[in-house]
Amino acid sequence: MTPQATGDTLRGAVSLRHLSKAFTLNGQPLPVLRNLSLDIRAGESLAIVGPSGCGKTTLLRMLAGLEAADSGQVVIDGRPVAGVGTERAVIYQEPRLLPWLTVLENVAFGLEVRGIARSVAQDRARRHIRLVGLSDFENAWPRQLSGGMAQRVGIARALTVQPEILLLDEPLGALDAMTKLTMQEELARIWREENVTMILVTHDLEEAIFLADRVLVLSADGTPPALIPVDLPRPRDRNGADFVRMRRM
Ligand code: ADP
Repeated sequence: MTPQATGDTLRGAVSLRHLSKAFTLNGQPLPVLRNLSLDIRAGESLAIVGPSGCGKTTLLRMLAGLEAADSGQVVIDGRPVAGVGTERAVIYQEPRLLPWLTVLENVAFGLEVRGIARSVAQDRARRHIRLVGLSDFENAWPRQLSGGMAQRVGIARALTVQPEILLLDEPLGALDAMTKLTMQEELARIWREENVTMILVTHDLEEAIFLADRVLVLSADGTPPALIPVDLPRPRDRNGADFVRMRRM
């Protein structure tokens, strides 16, 4: 895997430094993250798993700059960040496409709001629509798409702003089992081809192992998180011996 590079500089490295976060529940503090430190390499794929309520989405929102830490820092490419930034793009379970825009217009929209001319924005959008295999559907409306196709549009839309870091929150959670398998293969390919750092929240351990270099396991009871390296060759083949052997462990 070649990390994204600009000149000699690797882009998309993320460091979590002593991150802590608590919410308040019925007047009592509810600690969610306790002093979490972790370095994620540029171009790495990290999955975050753990039981419901353990803080996966909160952590992803902090990485996205949508939630502030009580203490600690998120550092990207050596710079502490606060708030959202164009070097990060988020993909949610529901792509929430704008129903009055076509596929092409939905994907180009994020560039146009940044002031990029429509023709340039649409050219860039077309490249990513091709990457997710939807060139024939450029002029389709969101209501004409299946769930998997809509999520592909969501992925193209996120990639079009050329992020260094893709943050994915249960991106395949709403899809049927067969579509999910296909989309996992697609995400693996897109991650390889686009050279982005990928940080993926999932409740699906098999998906985590298929897509990630390392798996961060959070707990809901205050037990410190675990970090598990996935020591399997890439690209991983679902039908190949490696994956079958892994599943039987
Ligand atoms: P997960 O994604 O692992 O299911 P979350 O990060 O969504 O977990 O939530 C972690 C805990 O923090 C849960 O107990 C949840 O109820 C609580 N929580 C999340 N967001 C808020 C909020 N804005 N206010 C209060 N509690 C919250």
